[in-house]
Amino acid sequence: MTHVVVLGSANMDLVVRVARAPRHGETVTGREFRTAPGGKGANQAIAAARCGATVSMIGAVGDDGFGTRLRSALEHSGVDTDLLRTVEGRSGTAHIVVDDDGGNAIVVIPGANGTVDHLVPGDEGLIATADVLLLQLEIPLAAVVAGARAARAHGVRTVLTPSPARPLPPELLGAVDLLVANESEALALTGRADPVDAAHDLLADVPEVVVTLGSAGSFHLRRDAEPLAVAAPRVTAVDTTGAGDTFVGALAVALAEGRPVQDALRWAAAAAALCVQREGASASMPYRSEIDTRFT
Ligand code: ADP
Repeated sequence: MTHVVVLGSANMDLVVRVARAPRHGETVTGREFRTAPGGKGANQAIAAARCGATVSMIGAVGDDGFGTRLRSALEHSGVDTDLLRTVEGRSGTAHIVVDDDGGNAIVVIPGANGTVDHLVPGDEGLIATADVLLLQLEIPLAAVVAGARAARAHGVRTVLTPSPARPLPPELLGAVDLLVANESEALALTGRADPVDAAHDLLADVPEVVVTLGSAGSFHLRRDAEPLAVAAPRVTAVDTTGAGDTFVGALAVALAEGRPVQDALRWAAAAAALCVQREGASASMPYRSEIDTRFT
């Protein structure tokens, strides 16, 4: 079975729905409040586990109720949490205001995620056993670099989601095998106005790049191969939260299983299309059997 290790964040999403977001100094009455497990690390771990991989998560939650819920949400989807630390203090939280136009404003408090700034004994050994290591940028960069280097040292493929977008040091890029960015991340990383130009720039630093384009699908560039473009299935999207993480989790599993890139991209697009048709982030992520049924 494919073994995926995720080194990254776990947040409790605290979501309020309002007709219109408050202006500075204003109080508005909202319609609904809900909490949902999130964080890009946990989301990608859940996505990959539902795709049928054996998944282990390295990261940290706080010793609060959110931490307990985050751990059990991961375990419920089959993610191994032995190396998910419980640290003193609060879990990471994302405070999300969604308005009726579908726009959102988000404040992230890293909390326990901020303590994941280095690898601890056991982490490297676990990474060494993986087929693929998934990385994002919601924990301190020092740990992301350390994880990528550990993976490289043991011949483990690394997949980086550069979110939230920030300048990436050469020592990180030098240890990344595949970078999967959404359009705005690709543009922010390169200062380009066009995602294809951005992807070509990124290819100078990493051997393989995928850029996702929402309902317009995705494309793949590799130094030694023809560009590939894959359409997204036409569906009615009700909530696109978690689409990118579902895509990355599914793509990583499919590639690790040895599927050709085009097949893997199409399978990932089928998974993400299922995710956007349902409310929620990790809760809306599909299981392997559903993806296989959708994948034609
Ligand atoms: P992110 O969620 O990181 O912003 P994207 O919006 O680019 O990333 O979405 C990632 C992938 O999810 C897309 O490449 C596509 O396959 C799928 N996806 C996103 N939105 C839709 C949609 N409205 N319809 C179908 N597929 C979608």
